[in-house]
Amino acid sequence: ATILAIETSCDETAVAIVKNRQVLSSIVASQIDLHQKYGGVVPELASRKHLESINFCLSEAIAESGLSWQDLDGIASTCAPGLVGALLVGVTAAKTLAMVHNKPFLGVHHLEGHIYASYLSQPELKPPFLCLLVSGGHTSMIYVKDCGHYEMLGTTRDDAAGEAFDKVARLLNLGYPGGPIIDKLAKSGNPQAFPLPEGRISLPEGGYHPYDTSFSGLKTAVLRLTQKLAEKGEIPVADLAASFQNTVARVLTKRTIRCALDYGLKTITVGGGVAANSELREHLLAAAQKHDIQVYFPPLKLCTDNAAMIACAAVEHYTRGDISSIDLKVRSRMPIMNVRELYQ
Ligand code: ATP
Ligand code: MG
Ligand code: FE
Repeated sequence: ATILAIETSCDETAVAIVKNRQVLSSIVASQIDLHQKYGGVVPELASRKHLESINFCLSEAIAESGLSWQDLDGIASTCAPGLVGALLVGVTAAKTLAMVHNKPFLGVHHLEGHIYASYLSQPELKPPFLCLLVSGGHTSMIYVKDCGHYEMLGTTRDDAAGEAFDKVARLLNLGYPGGPIIDKLAKSGNPQAFPLPEGRISLPEGGYHPYDTSFSGLKTAVLRLTQKLAEKGEIPVADLAASFQNTVARVLTKRTIRCALDYGLKTITVGGGVAANSELREHLLAAAQKHDIQVYFPPLKLCTDNAAMIACAAVEHYTRGDISSIDLKVRSRMPIMNVRELYQ
């Protein structure tokens, strides 16, 4: 199936056309510059900017693909979760185009997009598998039983992995978004320079939760260490970045491999912005190899928010006969376990 998808759930205006698992075009207009000076995404500004950018992104995506509207099987848009005003821009555009061109409309759950991003580099990949979803807002271990059928096995108790990268980068005065900056800087630092806490979650019955994560203690440890080092003189920023990143990569790898082994899953996929992290990729690949597990990552550019992954998720649903009602409402929150509600 060939699907055009729109993604406007947060601060990227994105449009892509995907044919099965092949990306025919993928346009991403980031609003990072717009929100940077406020230190976070301003919802009102985000919606207005989506409105300004959407038509240009649509025509670029069509032009780059070389297709015409008749060649499409359906038109999709992220409809949950996200900023309501931002989601509305994409969903309204997608519904309008679906009506004008007489095509089915599909609402897509943003996290399903991150899950299926790995399909864009793996033509043969199929469930069951374990997805480690590590993004700006999520750190989840999702058991993908089939398209639309998910079980949440682990989650974060506080900061998400990407959020931790962003906060640590901010406290080290490195800029935003923190992930790519720390990733680069860590290459020139010593990952063993500072031992940092892994942030385990205690269970009431004793022991630790095997799949849940907590990164706020790690972030605070970096903060304290930075303050202490600052009193002594120059801060070894690269060593701090390397030690922090190494801890995150180690924790995520340990939890994910444990989970895959416990559930007898031989395939792991990774999704979300942190899936771009070079050290996480190395650690996971090495550990998985030891246990005869396959690990798949999305193409680097498709780890952070984009519309190709949304189109890819829509292709999966469309192929199963899933189509959304033209009255589908956007939702700021929605557990991924409920995605089938989008196709009733
Ligand atoms: P969500 O999907 O949970 O709503 P989001 O869409 O904002 O959140 P993504 O676009 O998937 O999140 O990812 C953005 C996050 O990924 C940011 O926190 C960013 O710092 C992080 N990130 C990007 N590249 C890297 C990298 N190379 N290493 C670590 N983190 C990274
Ligand atoms: Mg973003
Ligand atoms: Fe995202």
